[in-house]
Amino acid sequence: MNSFNQFWNSPINYLKTVGPKKADIILQETGMKVVGDLLTYYPIRYIDRSEIGTIQEITPEMTYVSLKGKITHLELVGKAGRGRRLVGVFADSTGTLELVWFQGIKWVSEQIKIGEEIILHGRLSWFLSKPQFAHPEIEKINSSSGENTGKRWLPVYSSTEKLKKVGLDARGFRVLIEQIIAFMPPEIPDNLPISWVTETGFISRREAWCQIHQPDSLPQIQRAQYRLKFEELFFFQLMLASYQKGNKQRNRSYPFLKVGDLFNTYYHHHLPFELTGAQKRVMKEIRMDLAKPVQMNRLIQGDVGSGKTMVAFLSILIALDNSTQAAFMAPTEILADQHYRNILKYSEPLGIGVELLTGKVPAKARKILLDKLATGESQILIGTHAILEDPVVFQNLGLTIIDEQHKFGVAQRARLWSKGKLFPHNMVMTATPIPRTLAMTVYGDLEVSVIDELPPGRKPVRTKVVRTSKRPEVYSFVRQQLSEGRQIYIVYPLVAESEKSDLQAATEGWEYIQGVFPEVKVGLVYGKLKPLEKENEMQRFKSGQTRILVSTTVIEVGVDVPNSTVMIIENAERFGLSQLHQLRGRVGRGGNQSYCILIVTDKISKEGRKRLAMMEETQDGFKIAEADLEIRGPGDFMGTRQSGLPEFKIASISEDGTILQDARERAFKIIEQDPELSHPALIEVKKYYEQFIAHNKRFAGIA
Ligand code: ADP
Ligand code: MG
Repeated sequence: MNSFNQFWNSPINYLKTVGPKKADIILQETGMKVVGDLLTYYPIRYIDRSEIGTIQEITPEMTYVSLKGKITHLELVGKAGRGRRLVGVFADSTGTLELVWFQGIKWVSEQIKIGEEIILHGRLSWFLSKPQFAHPEIEKINSSSGENTGKRWLPVYSSTEKLKKVGLDARGFRVLIEQIIAFMPPEIPDNLPISWVTETGFISRREAWCQIHQPDSLPQIQRAQYRLKFEELFFFQLMLASYQKGNKQRNRSYPFLKVGDLFNTYYHHHLPFELTGAQKRVMKEIRMDLAKPVQMNRLIQGDVGSGKTMVAFLSILIALDNSTQAAFMAPTEILADQHYRNILKYSEPLGIGVELLTGKVPAKARKILLDKLATGESQILIGTHAILEDPVVFQNLGLTIIDEQHKFGVAQRARLWSKGKLFPHNMVMTATPIPRTLAMTVYGDLEVSVIDELPPGRKPVRTKVVRTSKRPEVYSFVRQQLSEGRQIYIVYPLVAESEKSDLQAATEGWEYIQGVFPEVKVGLVYGKLKPLEKENEMQRFKSGQTRILVSTTVIEVGVDVPNSTVMIIENAERFGLSQLHQLRGRVGRGGNQSYCILIVTDKISKEGRKRLAMMEETQDGFKIAEADLEIRGPGDFMGTRQSGLPEFKIASISEDGTILQDARERAFKIIEQDPELSHPALIEVKKYYEQFIAHNKRFAGIA
C-alpha cells in the first residue's frame, strides 16, 4: 500500500528524460505533477498496426492511415513567422505522398533521417482532391523505445504544440508511460469490491492500467476502458447516493397516507380529460413518494404541453386531503399568473381557496391574503419570489412546487421549505428535457419522473429550414398568417458577446421588421431589459396589442400565447438543438396549425444542415436533447455548465450511459445496505471514497 502511494506521488521529473524544465511545461499544459497523473492520462485512441496500408490504396473516405516507407525529401519553405512550414515527400513501393508540418519544425527535422525506414500514422487531409499528411506521427522501426514489443495496438495521447516542442508528442508520452508501467508495484490495492473483480468480470485496477496503455488485444482495451470508466462513474454515484440517503434521514416530512375526498371527487367527476399514460405513471411515482415520512424531492420533466400542470394540481389535492397547504412558485409574474388561472379553473368545482401572490398585489389585499393563509382558509398559494418573504406564513405547508427550477437557487428553495413545520414534499417542474444520463449525474439527489407523452390530438409544429435567400417568401407567409389574425415570434441570436450586445442584435432586427411590416405593432424583448418592462412587453404581446414579438433568446420558457403560430429563428445554426426546441415550444399551443422556420446562412456547412434536419424530423424533446448531447458534449449542454458537472478522465456522460446506469445501481445498492461502507470487504472502497470526497467538495451542495 505504502509503496503504491509512494509510486503514485513520485514527481514526474524523477522519470528518465524528464528534467525540471520539461516537468514545468507538462504542469503548465496539462496540470499533471505526479506519476499517478500520467498513469491516468488515458489514450484518446489507438493505432492498429496490423492495418499498415500502401499509398496506392488511399481513398478519399480514409481519415486515419498507417503507412510504411521512407522520407525521400525534406525542405523548409516560406518566410520565418507566418507561412513557414516543413514539407516532405514520403514514398513506399506504390507511390509518393506529400507531408507537411506547421509546428514543431525543429524537433521534427531532428527526428527524421532521409531514407530511413519508418512507419507514419495519422489523419489525412485532402487538398484539391490530393491527399496530404499533416503532422503525421513518426514511428521508428529500429527505435529502442520499447515500442517494438510487437504489439498490434499503439496508444495515441493528446498533446499540444508546446508539449511537442519538448518531444512530448503521442510517442513521447508512450515512452514516458512505458517507464511508469514498468515501475508499477506488483501489488496495487483495488478500489472496487474484490468480489466484483473476482466474480463479475471486472479486470483489476492494475491490469486495467496495463491494458489501457499497452493493450494485448481489442477486447482487452474494451475491458480496461469499461473498468476505468466504471470506476470514475461509480465513485461519483456513491457520493450522490450518500447525499441522498443523508437528506432522506434529515428531512422528515408528512406522510400523506390517504388519497382523500378532494382527489377522488375531482379524479372521478371533474377531470376535464383522460390522463395520458405518462401522466398516470408519474402520478403513481409521486403518490408513492408522498406516502413516506421523508421529504419527496422529485424532478418532473415534461416537454412543453405534456400536461405538467394537471400533475401538479392532482398532487396539490393529495396534500390538501392530508390537511396541509401547497405553494407553487414560478420565476416570473406572467408564469405565476398563468398557473394561477389554470389552477383556479381546475379547482372551481371543488370550492377550495386559491390565492395569487406577486409583487403587484396591493398592501390591503395582501394583508387579507396573508391572514387567510395563516389560518388555513386558503389552501393553495401560487406566486413569484414574493412568496418567500418573511410575512408569508402558512398554517401547515405540506407541498412545494417549483416551476423551472434553474431560475431559483438552492438558498431560495431552502427558504421556501423553512415555511413548513416539517420539510414539505417538493416537486420541481421543468420543460427542459435533460437526457436521463445527464439528469442522473447532475441531479443526483433528485428522483426523476418523465412525462414522455403528449396529450392526443396535438398538431406537430411544421418545421422547415430555409436559407436567407428565401426570406422574402418567409415574410409573405408571415403576412398571410397576420391577415388571419395570428401572431409571430422572431428570434435573433446573440452574436458573440464581445462583437455586439444583446440589445443591439435585437434592436437592429426590430427596426428592420418594423420596416417590413408597417401595418402591425412590433414588440421587442432582450436580455438586459428590466424585469418589469419585460413583463409588460410580454403582456402586450399576450393581449394582442403587439402582433409580432422580436427578441433575443429571452422569451420566457412556458409563456403561453395560444394565438401565436409562427416562430422564426434567424441564424438558427448558431443555436443548440435543445434551445431551438425550447423556442419552437412557444408555438403550437392553440388549435391552429403552427410553424417553425429556421433561417440559416446560405453558406451553412453540410454537417450544420444535417444537424438541423433533426428539427424537421422530430418533435420529441428527449430525442433532440440526446442528439444535442452527442454532438456538443455535456459541457455545452444547455445550462449544465453552471451546474458544475464533474470532469471525467475517461468516462463520457454522452457515450457511457449504460456504464453510468450500472455504476449508479451498484452504488445506490451499497449505500442502501451499508451507508458507512463499514463492511470489511469495502475497506479499500471506503479509503478511496474518502479521498474522492475530499477532492470533490465543490459538489457537496449539488442540486
Ligand atoms: P405543460 O407541461 O407545458 O405545463 P400544460 O399543463 O400547460 O403543459 O398542458 C398543456 C395543455 O394540455 C393544457 O391546455 C392542458 O389542459 C392540456 N392537457 C393536459 N393534459 C391533458 C390530457 N391528458 N389530455 C388532453 N389535454 C391535456
Ligand atoms: Mg407549463
